[in-house]
Amino acid sequence: MMKRLLAALAAAATIFTAGAATAQTFPDRPITMVVPFRAGGPTDTVGRLLSQAMSRNLGVQVQVQIVDGAGGTLGAQRVAEAAPDGYTILLYHVGMATTPTLYPNLGYDPLTDFAEIGLVTNVPMTLVGRQRLPVSTWEQLIAYMTNNIDRITMAHAGIGSASHLCAMLFSQLTGLDIVTVPFVGTAEAMLDLQADFVDFMCDQTTSTVAPIQSGSVIAYAVTSPVRLQQIPDVPTPAEVGLPGFQLDVWHGLWAPAGTPPEVVARLNEALRFALTDQQVLRTFALFATNPSPIEDQTPEALRAKVASEIELWRPLIEAAGEFVR
Ligand code: ASP
Repeated sequence: MMKRLLAALAAAATIFTAGAATAQTFPDRPITMVVPFRAGGPTDTVGRLLSQAMSRNLGVQVQVQIVDGAGGTLGAQRVAEAAPDGYTILLYHVGMATTPTLYPNLGYDPLTDFAEIGLVTNVPMTLVGRQRLPVSTWEQLIAYMTNNIDRITMAHAGIGSASHLCAMLFSQLTGLDIVTVPFVGTAEAMLDLQADFVDFMCDQTTSTVAPIQSGSVIAYAVTSPVRLQQIPDVPTPAEVGLPGFQLDVWHGLWAPAGTPPEVVARLNEALRFALTDQQVLRTFALFATNPSPIEDQTPEALRAKVASEIELWRPLIEAAGEFVR
């Protein structure tokens, strides 16, 4: 008995010493930031900017690794299963809160399998259509969708993506049951929209501001309560008579559960540094991509966000009945 106790104490001491060493020397090699959607999409764009600025702060490379598929859940799973040493982190978004309801057999728990680092950005969305649609106003849009309900398609980035959530919200608020087409990221969905292969998409401004400005897609509404200065002609939900059509895509940064608190604190410091970097902020601003408010750039705020948004979106998802079994 005594022998077992001594062995347990020795093991605990080794773990403690190793943890302290990790915290003191962290980081001493490159860090992998998993982006769970296609390269060139909104999450990847945020990830590339963030990782470059975090690299400058941490003194090691933070490298984006795309692990896409299944609405971001494959990438999240990869990080949940990674060593809890701070060298593998996840950039994901509101999908962290919708997927527990969408996927009854999700292989991880967003609240117990991760160590939160902090909230990163808030991004409005835009409902856009392909350029050749004979529809330019909201009224025409609803009439067109109603009359062509069996033929039109709405792209999204997979079940669990923000564009999927936006499609469900739009469908529930308007009563229009539009056929959806899943992609692995909105980067490809946007290409297919511009090539006339799909009709509509609700995507983050990070991807849509440029095509809206160049006229290669038609924009019908933003999901923010006020108009955006980058695309000032696009009306708000209240202006088009659909006030509930509001969606703010928050992104967060996570490490695997069990990551030493000192390591999480160091990553949080690098995140905060990145979100004050003028180059990052200037580029974010071009695409109406807002850094999270300072008080939200904390592990506690991200944890509270996930917990509250699981409850916020559960009724909508249950009503939509779009579960992945
Ligand atoms: N964030 C996804 C992407 O980067 C899109 C989405 O969630 O709708 O492709």
